[in-house]
Amino acid sequence: MLDLAAQHAPIHAQLDAALQEVLQEAAFIQGPAVEQFARELGDYLGQAHVIPCGNGTDALQLALMSLQLPAGAEVIVPAFTYVATMEAVAILGLRPVCADVQPDTFSLDPAAVEAAITPRTGAIIAVHLFGQCADLVALQRMAHRYRLALIEDNAQAIGATYAMAEGVTAVAGTVGEVGTTSFFPSKNLGALGDGGALFTRDEARAAYLRQLANHGQTRKYYHEHIGLNSRLDTMQAAVLRVKLRHLPAWTQARQQVAACYDVSLAGLPTLQIPVRDVRSTHVFHQYTVRVAAGQRDALQTFLREQGVPSVVYYPIPTHQQPAYHYLGYQAGQFPVAEELCRTVLSLPIHPCLSHDQQQRVVQAVQSFYQTNGAA
Ligand SMILES: *Cc1c(COP(=O)(O)O)cnc(C)c1O
Repeated sequence: MLDLAAQHAPIHAQLDAALQEVLQEAAFIQGPAVEQFARELGDYLGQAHVIPCGNGTDALQLALMSLQLPAGAEVIVPAFTYVATMEAVAILGLRPVCADVQPDTFSLDPAAVEAAITPRTGAIIAVHLFGQCADLVALQRMAHRYRLALIEDNAQAIGATYAMAEGVTAVAGTVGEVGTTSFFPSKNLGALGDGGALFTRDEARAAYLRQLANHGQTRKYYHEHIGLNSRLDTMQAAVLRVKLRHLPAWTQARQQVAACYDVSLAGLPTLQIPVRDVRSTHVFHQYTVRVAAGQRDALQTFLREQGVPSVVYYPIPTHQQPAYHYLGYQAGQFPVAEELCRTVLSLPIHPCLSHDQQQRVVQAVQSFYQTNGAA
């Protein structure tokens, strides 16, 4: 699915030099590279404050902590996302409230969000799934109308942009009160281990988040808040500084792979290529197609036999995960999310996928449909 070795090969010397420097300076926690990386990423995101932290799940937890919601407050999350979005809510003693997603973009359905709002709702977490922005205009409007905080889980869409209005382009993760991201190695901007960050446009919130991520410390050994130990390692920051310089080119390469797949797979009778929201750019963390119900697993098996890997992101909707049975949701309650779990399939996409590899993927999918016809 992802070839990190191929992606690292051309920048091996740069990574090596960055790591050697950290080794020599020996400031492994909060070393200079952390602050430098935060500044550079903030510039890339259009002058946002960036607060590095330990991983993307911690980033979500810290974002929620910074909102200071009352115990038991409800936080609306998509029923179709990686579990971390929901987990961060639950671990804080807040109540995750699922809302269904849109069948085309796979992101929160604003109408479903509105229907889920109660007097106890404190926040909405929008997930920019697979590399494309959720409906930020509708979600931000709703957050304002109901006085809710909007958190953007931007682990999969770093660098994506969204047209908020005529001539007004926003960067994913910087629209809501707080944005979060992950530098898990397989993300579009990945470290050589765990890492994460928060984004905000509010300087006071940035300062608070920085404290929360470092034991609630306002100065050394003085703890004003109950915080976390969640910091980005200096080594990871040094690696990320190198990789950030390549991110625009890598994003473009992913978009070119997607364009190639789009052209080659668009005509297949029952296969839905990724639907692009005209207001959003798409950074293609995943290239996720929808397959006719009942055919998905057969397609995946066929591809595997042809040597083409594929992955189901995600096989189980969040409300049906065993850990969240206590919320009392029933099968059928979020029909779009449940249908997506039965029909989505993500094809190989990464910046170093060669033309031949792309052709092999395309030919394997096409040959499945020639053999199996329309469902
Ligand atoms: C990867 C991911 C996370 C969690 O990030 P970690 O760094 O693995 O903790 C959260 N949300 C989404 C949507 C993700 O894809």
